[in-house]
Amino acid sequence: MSATLLVLGTKNRKKAEELVDLLALPGVRVATLADFPPVPDVDETGDTFAANAALKAIGYARAVGAWVLGEDSGIVVDALKGAPGVYSARYSGPAATDHSNNDKLLAELAHTPLEKRTAHYVCRLALADPTGTVRVESGGKCQGRIRFEPRGTTGFGYDPLFEIVEYHRTFAELGPQIKHVLSHRARAVEAILPELTALLHEQVAHSGSPD
Ligand code: IMP
Repeated sequence: MSATLLVLGTKNRKKAEELVDLLALPGVRVATLADFPPVPDVDETGDTFAANAALKAIGYARAVGAWVLGEDSGIVVDALKGAPGVYSARYSGPAATDHSNNDKLLAELAHTPLEKRTAHYVCRLALADPTGTVRVESGGKCQGRIRFEPRGTTGFGYDPLFEIVEYHRTFAELGPQIKHVLSHRARAVEAILPELTALLHEQVAHSGSPD
């Protein structure tokens, strides 16, 4: 059977790597925006993860003329009234790096005791068809808490600080195999998969491509 192209609507290389692993599906060829001539960034002007995932799906689908999975994610820290939330990527300013964001998070929580350092990751996904219409959306969450110092070397973003309490390890210590089961992104992919595969396979059937 010929494969339908699914483009990941994110310019974050680490996120795209995780999504490629999570979306290894028969009959679906996953590409990233890096496989296309440069397209302008979609502005994340929404005030929710869901709104920003939809904006990316719509904007990038129109730009590349293919099915696009838009993704928006971040970390929500209870003691910071939900910050950094949708501003997770640029928490420490316009030139933020993972390192500077982690430093800022530790500074903001400097006087917060362990039992109050609860947090969760959120991921929202939106699948847009090649005309830029959102066809299905999903979400996933992952509970944890913010450690007092970074630990581990895998993953990205806040992973060295984000501890899965049951494992006494951060995502950066647990590694990709466990993150691919427990993470907000894994759960959001799992939730969207039935409809996503049905839509993409329907597309192959309608395009009349030879087997
Ligand atoms: P955006 O969705 O591109 O706006 O960026 C999301 C930001 O949230 C990332 O730059 C990270 O700082 C953070 N984030 C989202 N998902 C993860 C994750 O799986 N691990 C660590 N940090 C994450």
